[in-house]
Amino acid sequence: MIEFNYICFVTLNLLGLQIKGGMSFEERVLEIIRESTKKSGGIVQSELWRILGIDSREGSKLIARLMRKGLLMREAITYKGKKTYILRYADNTRAPVSVSVNLNPVVEVPCFACKQINRCSIGGYYDPTRCPLLTRYLLSMNIRRTLSLTP
Ligand code: SF4
Repeated sequence: MIEFNYICFVTLNLLGLQIKGGMSFEERVLEIIRESTKKSGGIVQSELWRILGIDSREGSKLIARLMRKGLLMREAITYKGKKTYILRYADNTRAPVSVSVNLNPVVEVPCFACKQINRCSIGGYYDPTRCPLLTRYLLSMNIRRTLSLTP
């Protein structure tokens, strides 16, 4: 009787219907994976299929759907001698990332401060392919890059 109820539970939820308590099947699966991630760093997908009482075909579709939503991460592992995947909850609320961008090379481009920029074009009187200021700048960049690559 328990098995029959569980199969009904799984079937209804695979069809996208809500289960008792307002939690969808996907939310329940995510809850299991989230808890496993917290406790032991993830859950082997065959273990998840066993807990949910679904086969690998159903499980793979479900996991693919959750991965497309960016809610899961999957990593290949060997478990009990077989190649499989471990599933981890992907916390989308990431910590702020501090990015430092050095704008100095851009600011140093002579064109930014050039009075002729609106009249400068290839083949024109002011031509970037013949401009001594730009050439000097590009050569200095190349020299700097060469120096930084030199061990
Ligand atoms: S290429 Fe030379 S002339 Fe043209 S905008 Fe840049 S600095 Fe000015």
